[in-house]
Amino acid sequence: MEAITISKVFKRYTLDEFIAYLQTFVGQVRFNEVHVHGTWKPTIANFRERPGDYYMHSMYRAHLQRGFTDIAQHATIDPDGYIWDGRPLLVPPASATGYNDSDDDRVHPFMFEMIGNFDKGVEKLDGAQLETAVGLTRAIVSLFGSRIVFHREMNPLKTCPGSGVDKDTFVALVNAAIKPPATAKPVISAEDANKIIKFLSAGYSTTSDAEARAEFNRLANELRKASGQKLQ
Ligand SMILES: [Zn+2]
Repeated sequence: MEAITISKVFKRYTLDEFIAYLQTFVGQVRFNEVHVHGTWKPTIANFRERPGDYYMHSMYRAHLQRGFTDIAQHATIDPDGYIWDGRPLLVPPASATGYNDSDDDRVHPFMFEMIGNFDKGVEKLDGAQLETAVGLTRAIVSLFGSRIVFHREMNPLKTCPGSGVDKDTFVALVNAAIKPPATAKPVISAEDANKIIKFLSAGYSTTSDAEARAEFNRLANELRKASGQKLQ
């Protein structure tokens, strides 16, 4: 019997290139959440031995063997801070059972992996890789109003993205990057913005529609941005 070769081409982007690519999806899909993962295996050391797309293909094959239709994640951040594409962005990810929003209503999480074992005392998420992770998360939150979720919040048996990655610190970095420069004057006062957000949340609580709720979140965050407040 002939072996079936299933292959996929993985494209490598810089953060800026990937953000430009993401922007073309605004209006086509709503990422209600951004799911943050670390691969655990491959490790950064593995990647250093076999750089390039070797581990993209190895993860792809492993995920197909688990019965997934494609690689699980939409994007993978390598230790040099490059982003590799993955599953098409219009398709829900295989992020965590029960959290993938896998109907095809074009509202689902964006899932990314960071190559490395980020458990305490093993490898470190830092430098270009951390910068890209923060920048990518910031772009998704800004463009789609997504909520940031670590894998371990959906599956307490996991440490993913790694016990060495503190969520509050990570979110603070994302927010710091979003914060307008100190010289920029807020467009509206925080007080007024919060009043409008109160009105929005009244609407939010009248619907359980995921798309409508994601839109409320996005609008509330737009107001927070315009008034120089932290995103939620
Ligand atoms: Zn994970």
